[in-house]
Amino acid sequence: MDCIFCKIISGDIPSKKLYEDENILAFHDIHPQAPIHFLIVPKLHIESADGIDETNSNVITKVFEKIPYLAREAGIKNGYRIISNCGKDACQSVKHLHFHILGGKQLPGEMG
Ligand code: 5GP
Ligand code: ZN
Repeated sequence: MDCIFCKIISGDIPSKKLYEDENILAFHDIHPQAPIHFLIVPKLHIESADGIDETNSNVITKVFEKIPYLAREAGIKNGYRIISNCGKDACQSVKHLHFHILGGKQLPGEMG
């Protein structure tokens, strides 16, 4: 499958990994939008949040269970933003479900 994040998961494309287990992978975003910006992906290829259903939602729990730990490990102290762009109007550019974790500075209050 021609999916950048599946290739990062398989190791075919290198990444700066923060964490990996059997269900999820966390790695630094290649174009950080904040002093700390990493991505968490389920290893299961789901196109976006719009592809979540009762057959695969267990991996979402796995992602969110690790967010507080990963945010701490990454050095975030005063809060963070979790973003998942879904589909064209949200400017999703990689069609493999991922959650951005942004922190390390005061983020803007607007939703853009
Ligand atoms: P989206 O726009 O789909 O919400 O977010 C995709 C994110 O993936 C972007 O922030 C982009 O910088 C990041 N990204 C795209 N290709 C790569 C890559 O090959 N390696 C890493 N580490 N991040 C990537
Ligand atoms: Zn994929």
